[in-house]
Amino acid sequence: MTTYPELAMIIAGERVSGGGRRTHAVVNPATGEVIGQLPLADPADLDRALEAAQNGFRVWRKSTPQQRAAVLTGAARLMLERQEDIARIATQEQGKTLPEARIEVLMNVGLFNFYAGECQRIYGRALVRPEGQRSTVTYEPVGPVAAFAPWNFPIGNPGRKLGAPIAAGCSVILKSAEETPASALAVLQCLLDAGLPGDVAQAVFGVPDEVSRHLLGSPVIRKLSFTGSTVIGKHLVKLAADNALRTTMELGGHGPVLVFDDADVTRALDTVVPHKYRNAGQVCVSPTRFIVHQDVFERFRDGFVERAKAVTVGDGLDPASRMGPMANARRTEAMDRLIGDARTHGANVLTGGERVGNRGFFYAPTVLTEVPLDAAIMNEEPFGPVAILNPYADEEAMVAEANRLPYGLAAYVWSEGARRQQRVAREVEAGMVGINTTMIGGADAPFGGVKWSGHGSEDGPEGLHACLVIKAIHEG
Ligand code: NAD
Repeated sequence: MTTYPELAMIIAGERVSGGGRRTHAVVNPATGEVIGQLPLADPADLDRALEAAQNGFRVWRKSTPQQRAAVLTGAARLMLERQEDIARIATQEQGKTLPEARIEVLMNVGLFNFYAGECQRIYGRALVRPEGQRSTVTYEPVGPVAAFAPWNFPIGNPGRKLGAPIAAGCSVILKSAEETPASALAVLQCLLDAGLPGDVAQAVFGVPDEVSRHLLGSPVIRKLSFTGSTVIGKHLVKLAADNALRTTMELGGHGPVLVFDDADVTRALDTVVPHKYRNAGQVCVSPTRFIVHQDVFERFRDGFVERAKAVTVGDGLDPASRMGPMANARRTEAMDRLIGDARTHGANVLTGGERVGNRGFFYAPTVLTEVPLDAAIMNEEPFGPVAILNPYADEEAMVAEANRLPYGLAAYVWSEGARRQQRVAREVEAGMVGINTTMIGGADAPFGGVKWSGHGSEDGPEGLHACLVIKAIHEG
């Protein structure tokens, strides 16, 4: 059994804590008990991190791709060695089941290894010019990055925020969520132990608004990378605009799932139900609005409810658990509010709709049907273990519902018809579309949204290029 580690910030390669700093109590969401005290940055800490990031960028921008690749592959190897410890830390501070936390470690391993290769393929190009002239296009690292990662993927989010800038030759100041700090620190430690210079990547924590204003207001920072809610994302984009920063914004979603009358309903259910309740639904690409053709609605609904009832809810450290607690009290409160409001609007609650036990932040896997469009949950990202099932008459109505909201992150299509698959995939406004699958990510694939779900991509070559700027050099 891994004990929960001592918490600190990592600034300029040094662990920083104590010294009369304010602290944040980290809570195990399965028990509600405080498991750690996290030191929070004061302005002087942030200034030190900025100075280090500037120094780190001077060094790292000149590193060879082979040096960067060696650090990334070394860190991937260490993460694999430390997989069980890191996963247990994540489960203790975030709640998800251990198998889910282990997968997060593997996601980082895959991403770091991918970037180790990709950073050696940052090609420029030579333009065709008359003899005696030369014009080239080159890519350079954008500069120090301020990266803010949320608590829902406490290992994977920091991995994304660190991997791409480091591969590109940038330095990065990471502020991961104060609720799940130890997982982020464990990921950063792998990079440092693999030889990353201490100034290149640092971890600070603090009062989020203080940290983001301080870092984004500094002339040192050249890019903002944020994952979190649309509300906060819009606020941060405005702060970033004052310094004309590059931005990559991974914001909220309200995942539509279109289930057509020609779908393999059993396969759809066997795939989407576990996916719905993964991480207690606290996933930006979670399937949420099930837009089901009326001819298969009853079958889909009954199969969904049966499977939802069979999900075992419990402490993520318990091997029998298939769904852990929600990550914090804000989420259970949000579930009570949104489901209560849906009930008031006449929705059916076919299973769940209530908290489980009186310890920690457990919530029952929930299925709502016939939810009117003016219920809050039809418009606000629920970010919880709740599926909304509504029947529709035809493809046109289904696509219109999928596109009704200002979000556009992930969408899912279930149909056996090849033409329909392609047509609907084109029509749906989303950054990622899964056809008869919920697997919409991968180290080599761009991950990101459109509309209010944000802009820019993480992962894939696109995630690396998001940390690069272009320079055109002309010689006469
Ligand atoms: P929130 O919107 O306050 O926080 C979301 C994340 O942003 C947290 O990690 C937080 O530390 C960070 N944050 C908040 N204010 C910030 C600031 N001024 N500067 C920098 N970072 C800041 O609320 P929450 O209760 O943590 O989550 C609520 C909603 O956020 C969820 O319902 C969901 O819609 C969204 N969310 C999305 C993701 C995602 O993966 N896209 C992850 C977590 C939360």
